[in-house]
Amino acid sequence: MKALLTDFDFNKIKGLVHDFGEPEFRALQLYQWINRGVSFENMSNLPKTLTEKLSENFDASGVSINKNFVSKDKSVKYLFELRDGNLIEGILMPHSYANTLCVSTQVGCRMNCAFCASGISGLERNLTCGEILGEVISANNFIGGDLKNRKIGNLVLMGSGEPLDNYDEVSEFLKLVTDPNGLNMSERNISLSTCGLVDKIYRLADDGHSVTLSISLHSAVEDVRNELIPASKANPLSEIKKAAKYYFEKTGRRVIYEYILIKDKNDSRYDAEKLAYMAKGFPVHVNLIMLNPVKEKNLLPCSLRTAQKFQKYLSDLNVSVTMRHSFGVDISGACGQLRRKYIH
Ligand code: SF4
Repeated sequence: MKALLTDFDFNKIKGLVHDFGEPEFRALQLYQWINRGVSFENMSNLPKTLTEKLSENFDASGVSINKNFVSKDKSVKYLFELRDGNLIEGILMPHSYANTLCVSTQVGCRMNCAFCASGISGLERNLTCGEILGEVISANNFIGGDLKNRKIGNLVLMGSGEPLDNYDEVSEFLKLVTDPNGLNMSERNISLSTCGLVDKIYRLADDGHSVTLSISLHSAVEDVRNELIPASKANPLSEIKKAAKYYFEKTGRRVIYEYILIKDKNDSRYDAEKLAYMAKGFPVHVNLIMLNPVKEKNLLPCSLRTAQKFQKYLSDLNVSVTMRHSFGVDISGACGQLRRKYIH
């Protein structure tokens, strides 16, 4: 397979242009075309000789939109196709202030969380930094955005895959997507959702990243959490709390705990008290989410009344908490659902 140009940062593009004997200003032109998702033949201000040579050795894009589905709530689910034919998912969630795009970081996932369709068939492979970037470029293009008029304001790394299980590529992606010569996003507008890989949380902080760290907690009771997130056995709650506190101290960013409410599993007063303990000692916000049921899994959402009571228990314990809207329930919005429909 040819090398993928979205995997290249600006310095590598400069080197490439130099190797092809072109003047340095061509590097910025090429880099911006790539970040706009434009094919070689449409890179109108580059000499044909250069684009022909490039196309012999490189692919300009590694991601295309295979299908898209619009939900009643106006969110759009994308089924992205990679060069090897693998499919991954993204979802665009419209907000009054800015569009938020949720991207995948792996094909499949090996964490096998009990409520998620992505883990059912295991990990197929990691995405490269340029493939993750390709999801953003494709979606931005699809909704009429450009570099100067970027239509995606926020990103969440919360699609298929555990981002910290693909640390090097995800870290590189963060550098690419925040490059002022490219899509110029800010890490402050990017959330990374992890099921709590403790050593990688420390690394993320030490490497100088400042994304919003969103920890998928889902239970603050060790046994229940181990059942919901089998991979969490290696990352006990006490260690997760220490790592989250470290991340806050290093970055100054409030940490988010994501908590999917599941009927009779994690929705009692006792569960709320344990969760409140996890949120004590440093700034944490809890996002409660109603379970988006997955057909292959045997779990149900709790009632709205139970969810409201759970939220009140937390508020009464002085925990900052909100209930988050579940997007795209009618279009297989939950992670991994759409892809599963198309890989059989
Ligand atoms: S919830 Fe996230 S970490 Fe868990 S199986 Fe799904 S994609 Fe993987």
